[in-house]
Amino acid sequence: MKTIGLLGGMSWESSQSYYRLLNEGIKSRLGGLHSARVILYSVDFAEIEALQHQGDWEATANILAKAARSTEAAGADFLMIGTNTMHKVAPEIAEAINIPLLHIADATVRVLKNDGISRVGLLGTRFTMEQAFYRCSLEQAGIEVLVPHEAERNDIHRIIYEELCQGQILPSSRDNYLATVDSLAQRGAQAVILGCTEIGLLVRPPDTSVPLYDTTEIHADAAVRLALGEV
Ligand code: GLU
Repeated sequence: MKTIGLLGGMSWESSQSYYRLLNEGIKSRLGGLHSARVILYSVDFAEIEALQHQGDWEATANILAKAARSTEAAGADFLMIGTNTMHKVAPEIAEAINIPLLHIADATVRVLKNDGISRVGLLGTRFTMEQAFYRCSLEQAGIEVLVPHEAERNDIHRIIYEELCQGQILPSSRDNYLATVDSLAQRGAQAVILGCTEIGLLVRPPDTSVPLYDTTEIHADAAVRLALGEV
C-alpha cells in the first residue's frame, strides 16, 4: 500500500472527513484492522484565509509548497491538497515536489464523465466558482459549468468561511444551499458538484432529488484506489 500525503487544515473540519474516508476506503477493501497509511500536514488556516482574501496567492503557494516538500520528505508516495480552492496554486505545489499530485478536479471530471454528465452546477468558494483554475478542468473535458447567480454566490461563500469551516451546521444555511441547488437544476444542470470540501457536512444526497457530487468523497476514493494500485 502506498503512503498518502494530505495537505489539510483547510479547514480542519474537512480534514476530519478526509481522514475518516481514507481509512474507511482502505478497510472496506482490505478488511479487518487495515487502515490507510497517511501523512497529514495540517496548516494554520487563518493565515491561508487572510492571504486568499488579500489576493496574495503567491504567499499561499510558498506556504503550501514548503508543506508539500515536508510531506514528501516524510515518506508520502503521492500528494493530495484537501481543498478545492487551494488548487488555484496546484501548479506551483506540483512543481515543488517529485511525487505525483492527485488533483481534485481531475478526479471529479473522471467520475462525471463516467456518469455521462455534460452540464453541471458548481458550488464552492467565490474563488472556485468565479475563477478559471477549477472550471477549466471541467470545461476542457467538455463539461459545461453553471455557477449560481451573484447573490447566491455571496451566500455560498460566506457560509463556507463563517460557518462550515468553523464547525457550524445550520438548518437555515442548508435550506439556502438547497434552494441554490434547485435553481441550478432549473437552469439545466444535470447534477451539482459540491466543490468545497466542507459542503458535504451541510448537504447530503437524501436532501435533494438533484444528483450531488461531493469532491471530498471523490478525492478520497481516488486516493484509496491509487494507494492500492487499482489505478
Ligand atoms: N475547503 C474549501 C474548499 O474546498 C474552502 C477552504 C479554502 O479556502 O481552502 O475550497
